[in-house]
Amino acid sequence: MDQSPQLRPDLADLPSYRAGARAADAVSLASNESVGGPLPEVVAAIARAAGDSHRYPDPAANQLLERLSVKLGVDADQVALGTGSVAICQQITTSACSPGDEVIYAWRSFEAYPIVTRLAHAKSVQIPLRSDARHDLPAMHDAITERTRVIFVCTPNNPTGPAIPTREIADFLEQVPRNIVVVVDEAYLEYAGASGSEFRDTLDLVNEYQHAMVLRTFSKAYGLAGLRVGYGVGQPEVVSGLRKAATPFGVNHLAQAAALAALEHEHEVTEQVADTVRERDRVVTQARQLGWDVPDTQANFYWLPLGSSTDKFAQACAGAGVLVRAFSGEGVRVTIGEPQWNDRVLQVLRDFR
Ligand SMILES: *Cc1c(COP(=O)(O)O)cnc(C)c1O
Repeated sequence: MDQSPQLRPDLADLPSYRAGARAADAVSLASNESVGGPLPEVVAAIARAAGDSHRYPDPAANQLLERLSVKLGVDADQVALGTGSVAICQQITTSACSPGDEVIYAWRSFEAYPIVTRLAHAKSVQIPLRSDARHDLPAMHDAITERTRVIFVCTPNNPTGPAIPTREIADFLEQVPRNIVVVVDEAYLEYAGASGSEFRDTLDLVNEYQHAMVLRTFSKAYGLAGLRVGYGVGQPEVVSGLRKAATPFGVNHLAQAAALAALEHEHEVTEQVADTVRERDRVVTQARQLGWDVPDTQANFYWLPLGSSTDKFAQACAGAGVLVRAFSGEGVRVTIGEPQWNDRVLQVLRDFR
């Protein structure tokens, strides 16, 4: 009787989600968190809601759904809420894939994709980014087979930064068979909007293409990463499938209250985002002037394709009191933070050999 509980054997070699580093004596530019943090009005709403913590939340989060549907110009039954949009990613693979089905996504891209694919007993089909760190949509299209159930398109792409023009996403949706869910993961959309009209509202595409599902989150621009709330927008049939795959009462009472309050103060959120975008453009311009090859970025971070120098650079940043996100052998992702933190990274870039 010396047997231990038997878990799925295929979990053994599944990488665990690696969160960005943090330490008491260094600033973290490793997790793409918002610089400013939540607005005071949002903190006050969380404090007010805390008094009801003995009660279950509204399981359907009706108020938040209602508010979002007005903001987004879609019906409430087109919106699925989740404990962060990473949970929506998992609900999509769980509800769309049967064992052996295939999920296509670019690589490198969001590190949750391989995990949620495997958890759904599906197979990852990773399509390398182009040399300019952009998605290779034609190659992703060519990879479609009769087993393909989901395609993740991350725009702007985490961790490399470029966004895909909406026109190209529309063309892609046009070409992909309608039985495949095309997930347009827009966790950083707010930072891209400011860059120009090339990135128009993808929500139009949801009504045009029934297989499109757009993901958004309160974790980045809205500064609520600690509360876990995000959502997906798609056709009601797909959305109701996602809801079945959700943990009941997942989006908690404080998260619902905070998201509602944040939506009441979009103007301030937009101002914070504009500051971050200006600072990003300053930092990227300077890094390029120092001779570094930085791909275009429409997000609140930038990518340094350092290859074999990746770990060494990340260590140099840590030595300067800044934690960045290293993808060993590939590159470093640096979140835009306070100007003085960004300057520390620029100083490392200046000195780095
Ligand atoms: C941060 C992020 C998300 C969502 O994060 P949540 O905190 O789960 O909402 C989704 N996709 C990408 C690409 C991200 O970087």
